[in-house]
Amino acid sequence: MGSKKTRYVYFFGDARAEGMSAARDEKGRKAVLGGKGSGLADMTAAGLPVPPGFTITTVACALFYKSNRTWPAGLEEQVEAAIARLEALTGKTFGRGDNPLLVSVRSGAAVSMPGMMDTVLNLGLNDSTLQAMIKLAGNERFAWDAYRRFVQMFGDVVLGIPHHDFEHALQSVKERRGARLDTDLDVEGMKEVVAEYRKAYQRAGKSFPQDAREQLRDSIDAVFNSWDNPRAVKYRQLNDIRGLLGTGVNVQTMVFGNMGDDSGTGVAFTRDPSTGQNKFYGEYLMNAQGEDVVAGIRTPQPIQTLAQVDGKAYRQLVQIRRKLEKHYRDMQDIEFTIERGTLYMLQTRSGKRTIFAAVRAAVEMAQAGLITKEEAVARVPAGQLGQLFAPVLDRKGEAAAETQGRVLAQGLPASPGGACGQVVFTADTAEAWAKEGKKVVLVRLETSPEDVGGMAVAQGVVTARGGMTSHAAVVARGMGTPCVAGAGQLRIDYAAKTVGVDAKVVREGEYISLSGFTGTVYLGQIKVQPSEIIQVQDGLLKPRESLLYRQYNKLLKWADSIRRLGVRTNADIPRDADRASKMGAEGIGLCRTEHMFFEGDRIISFRRFILVADEVKRLRDELAAAGDDEAKAEQIRNRLAAPEAQYNQALRELLPLQRGDFEGIFRVMGSRPVTIRLLDPPLHEFLPQEEDNQREMASTMGIPVEVVKATVTALHEFNPMLGLRGCRLGIVYPDVSAMQVRAIIEAALNVSKEGIRPHPEIMIPLVGNVVELRLQRELAGKVIGEVLAERGIKSLPFPVKIGTMIEVPRGAITADEIAREAEFFSFGTNDLTQMGCGFSRDDSGKFLRPYVDMGIYEYDPFQTLDRAGVGQLVRIGTEKGRATRPDIKLGICGEHGGDPASVEFCHMIGLDYVSCSPYRIPVARLAAAQAALKHPYPARKAGAKPGRKKTSAGKTYAAGRKGARKRKRRYASPTAAR
Ligand code: PEP
Ligand code: MG
Repeated sequence: MGSKKTRYVYFFGDARAEGMSAARDEKGRKAVLGGKGSGLADMTAAGLPVPPGFTITTVACALFYKSNRTWPAGLEEQVEAAIARLEALTGKTFGRGDNPLLVSVRSGAAVSMPGMMDTVLNLGLNDSTLQAMIKLAGNERFAWDAYRRFVQMFGDVVLGIPHHDFEHALQSVKERRGARLDTDLDVEGMKEVVAEYRKAYQRAGKSFPQDAREQLRDSIDAVFNSWDNPRAVKYRQLNDIRGLLGTGVNVQTMVFGNMGDDSGTGVAFTRDPSTGQNKFYGEYLMNAQGEDVVAGIRTPQPIQTLAQVDGKAYRQLVQIRRKLEKHYRDMQDIEFTIERGTLYMLQTRSGKRTIFAAVRAAVEMAQAGLITKEEAVARVPAGQLGQLFAPVLDRKGEAAAETQGRVLAQGLPASPGGACGQVVFTADTAEAWAKEGKKVVLVRLETSPEDVGGMAVAQGVVTARGGMTSHAAVVARGMGTPCVAGAGQLRIDYAAKTVGVDAKVVREGEYISLSGFTGTVYLGQIKVQPSEIIQVQDGLLKPRESLLYRQYNKLLKWADSIRRLGVRTNADIPRDADRASKMGAEGIGLCRTEHMFFEGDRIISFRRFILVADEVKRLRDELAAAGDDEAKAEQIRNRLAAPEAQYNQALRELLPLQRGDFEGIFRVMGSRPVTIRLLDPPLHEFLPQEEDNQREMASTMGIPVEVVKATVTALHEFNPMLGLRGCRLGIVYPDVSAMQVRAIIEAALNVSKEGIRPHPEIMIPLVGNVVELRLQRELAGKVIGEVLAERGIKSLPFPVKIGTMIEVPRGAITADEIAREAEFFSFGTNDLTQMGCGFSRDDSGKFLRPYVDMGIYEYDPFQTLDRAGVGQLVRIGTEKGRATRPDIKLGICGEHGGDPASVEFCHMIGLDYVSCSPYRIPVARLAAAQAALKHPYPARKAGAKPGRKKTSAGKTYAAGRKGARKRKRRYASPTAAR
């Protein structure tokens, strides 16, 4: 596989970086070289002090997998040539001689996956280069330490000898020699450790290769292989990283941070990765190597203190920080090493950040003119915005805990948010307990990639070791899980399942609370309360008291000025409508009226209706069929009297309750549109299915339980989702639709008297045939006429629209016919997915997960709109609807309305709005703006030729949103949204 001529290796060194020509832009370079390789090339080209080396491309990794884990033709020669260049440039020799070349071999995919793949350091050491290094460094202990690290890493990472064998070997030497830390071991100790490691090799039946080229080949293989290791695969799944070729491999001249007290190593962010504050943020350890800082074994020092330890290196770093932010116009995450007073840069990449930091950094960079408003909007991950509303610890609760002496420990504020839960000590327990519905806090000495599953389900994470860049901190921030890291006072005893400080001891299952904003861990429970943004929305905090709120608000205002899609909410009750308004909803796109039927006593009224509905319908039909046979009619009327009285009484009871519900919603929404859907679910959903509950219902209603059971049996359907529901219900029992339409119109009239000009939209669900809609529309028209007559008015003092949901495939395909009767369509993509894909909404959990894992579907189609299938039904519905009625209003109200990728699709096909649950509104606002930036022109109207200018569809867009009118109108290619 591959061609000999293909270039797989890009050299960097001496202020020149071949990788700069690997692709035209940074994104392309990252795809080919991986993030680390691209950053190294960039920094080298910018003249920063980067140890020379070379990058093997991600393409080589992809080919490695394609050809059964073998190297593509030509790679070996290119690696050999690059090693020769490295030798020439550094004056060192690889694997031999007085001045041996040692290298690191590190992974680096296009998207960073911290700690998930493999790294080998100090490669090139063997029994002979060890001696040369001892002479060169003039420090025997250093050389032996480097050697033992290499022997361990190679055995562990490359040969797969169990990690704990090495841990155990090191521990036993330390114990024998009375050493507490690794650094307490002297030369003889180090030698003994190497001897013990060799025994571990022997036990595993492996041997340590003395040949540096063999070491290199095997290590490159190991890095390639690590792309597919279970933790990397899990990380990609959790973070939805897909479509990458593989990992790049960076082979780079070693520099040593462990050569003595004038050497060190560290990591830093150009801004605070947790809050986004514009301050240099990092940590380092003197006399330490590579992974020591992130491994969490020693707690590192804050970067500012480096100014005292090595002023020159610190000043240089501060300068580099500025240079990198200016160059990348984004926050960077850097790694550096100081070798005997000389600073080297080992990495720069776009810094992973919390959503809090993403918002703050984007807004502040735009305000400082470093990036544009559009870039700020494009940069914040819309899907994570919901985390801004994550709870925080109650301030009063925290203060009380402090005065009561319930502070357990103080660590680093590694990932923001407040959490409270039961202590667990292993990721497995966390997962098991969370499955039982318990809220847990995972407490570990430090975390490792094996803990990721447990961290994902925990309310919060606490570690005793490690800094702001430890595994726990980085991963928790990525997940949005609150985390306190490096709480060094904590004594954790895994065997006894306890954690404590002095006399304060917490056992597994007991509660602790933590603040990821301050780094404090508290004994016992502290109430977790709404985020600052919610508090400001609810008037509990002033905007000026919350920087977070102000910056969030600014970003979303910018998004609003960019987006073309409207954003409405799915809300059924005034409280949700109110929250949605505060989140920026421009209307209600779906009010599911059935939820109102469950509240309080009204379920009883509705059940009374259901118990007799079928009988009333049957007798009424019989009565109509009796014709002139008065005797028969009389007999039927007698049988009908009682059930019909119950039927009418139930509807009479429900009417004022529904009216009150709608008045409440209209008051909250004012003149914004409110789409109210008539009853949708099958009737059996309103009756109890369990025997105990059936008995309870019977006794509440004073009827025999047999009546309840008989009705449940009569309403039974084999496939209720495809049964008597939606408009079918309104057609079979028109009195329910009539009652609901009356409630809507009367409510709107009532609030009109209060000076509100409501904007009701009556929505008929589950229409697949235009006749269904016509019948329901005629019924609604009749009811409106009756209400007008009763009130003695000629016309309504507000506009009313009547439209439908498009959620049955036939509805989408015949949308041109349906649009004759509909002033608006709202795509119900939940049902449209169910019926379009043929996946039960209730049962698909059994196979969708494996389907996604196997790549049959890219995403769960109930979460992210299936563009190729269901999306095309939406597109067809849109085009056909507009072909009949150019000014038809088009929206979506399935769950997809709050999913960024689906919002993008809605923008591309030219819908007018999306509707989603209240807390997803900011997500939709931002996603809609991002879609508008990515696809600046609206989709063309059905039937219009690409490039044709004015069409009525264009007018619809312009009318849809302020500002869109000003924008130039052009039409994307007809296949753009496919
Ligand atoms: C839909 O089907 O997409 C929809 C919004 O309706 P429901 O989820 O209530 O069936
Ligand atoms: Mg539906």
